[in-house]
Amino acid sequence: MIFDYVIVGSGFAGAVLAERIATELDKKVLIIEKRKHIGGNCFDFKDENNIIIHKYGPHIFHTNDKEVFNYICKFTNIRIFHHKVLAYIDGKKVPIPFNFNTLYQVFPDTLAKRIEKKLLEKYELNSKVSILELQSEEDSDLKLLSNFIFQKIFLNYTVKQWGLTPDEIDKSVMSRVPVFMGKDNRYFTDKYQFIPTNGYTSLFNKMLNNKNIKIMLQTDFHEIAELKKNKFFIFGNEFKGKVIYSGAIDELFGYRFGELPYRSLKFEPETVNTEYYQETAQVNYPNDYDFTRITEFKHFHNVKSNDTVIFREYPEKFKRGKNSRFYPVLTEKNLKLYQKYRIFARKYKNLILIGRLAEYKYYNMDEIIKKSLEIFQNKILPEERENGIKISGNIGNNTLLQPRRVFA
Ligand code: FAD
Ligand code: UDP
Repeated sequence: MIFDYVIVGSGFAGAVLAERIATELDKKVLIIEKRKHIGGNCFDFKDENNIIIHKYGPHIFHTNDKEVFNYICKFTNIRIFHHKVLAYIDGKKVPIPFNFNTLYQVFPDTLAKRIEKKLLEKYELNSKVSILELQSEEDSDLKLLSNFIFQKIFLNYTVKQWGLTPDEIDKSVMSRVPVFMGKDNRYFTDKYQFIPTNGYTSLFNKMLNNKNIKIMLQTDFHEIAELKKNKFFIFGNEFKGKVIYSGAIDELFGYRFGELPYRSLKFEPETVNTEYYQETAQVNYPNDYDFTRITEFKHFHNVKSNDTVIFREYPEKFKRGKNSRFYPVLTEKNLKLYQKYRIFARKYKNLILIGRLAEYKYYNMDEIIKKSLEIFQNKILPEERENGIKISGNIGNNTLLQPRRVFA
């Protein structure tokens, strides 16, 4: 059988490109996925209570990008969902991002009023300010405020999450959660916020249900591929089509420059015999316990059942063979090491690197979908047009070519 593209990974990076190539170009795609399911870290499943559980932690779709929104809506109906998060601080659950509602819950009224007034003299109503920016304020009330937010919300959570102090990690990480200059309790302010009605796995099934796409599950790329003389040999034959790789870049190149650190998580599930366990889908615990947050999945779909399922999330170091890579660890040193791999990757002319792991970027779902659509539009499509011929990605007549599980 002939494949024009081999795609490693079936998360959003791999799945969007597979779908575009198969649908728009009518080219044959082989997806190699090492897990026993598609969907990457967005994979979910229904448990015995009919509750959709996100196996790798809570995933809420949020975007301002209409193109991404329209694209995703081709494969799923949506349930509008405005994510609200509480943080457990000094015995109280208060809204985060820290906003004016939080302000009045943690400070006495007169002080809160004064701070609100001072903030609005400096910042636009409903604007977002990073805690790092707020920390540069000289005014004593604003200093008190920024110290409070930093100490109670960011410092210990960040240390737990990354095993690093805030100054050791790239500023963009903590800035993901702003201080909000208004009374909006929502975690995100994006125009489109939702959960796929039947879950993410159903969405991925629809995307990949294409006669041009075959999927090999439970197969590591390294089981079927060899890298020799800057070329890919797949099932023993040189592969001349394109390899789209969304796994870890250091692993692809045999860790030749050393291991890139990633952060992992351990999820501790619990079924609780109560209708709802907590007020919102997510409660963060910056300062108490070893876990960072508790997710209660039932909130996402509003299922009726007597039991509910929660996940406690314990951050841990990524260790090969022990757990999964979830987050790139964005420090100066690691980004330098990543660049070494990136430069080395240039030798492989038919390789496209994309995704959280391959690009070592802290992508949200919408960002990786956007990037995949752009790569298709600006790189793959023009090259295909230029060639005007069928790419010869002949990967031989090997019995292993019968995928262990073919997605029909
Ligand atoms: P992945 O989903 O990781 O997919 C990569 C795939 O490649 C995996 O299936 C992996 O098994 C496979 N693979 C890797 N190496 C190999 C190999 N050698 N051979 C074969 N297969 C391989 N984003 C949001 O927008 N909203 C959220 O609320 C949100 N919450 C998140 C919560 C958590 C806990 C985490 C970890 C992430 C969250 N994200 C969220 C981010 C979202 O998960 C990513 O943006 C998205 O999964 C990136 O897709 P990807 O395809 O790059 O990577
Ligand atoms: N963060 C924090 N306290 C919180 C929430 C977030 O310190 O209560 C910081 C922490 O460094 C975290 C980062 O902000 O890693 C990004 O948070 P986000 O909720 O976006 O993380 P994700 O959902 O991607 O795990």
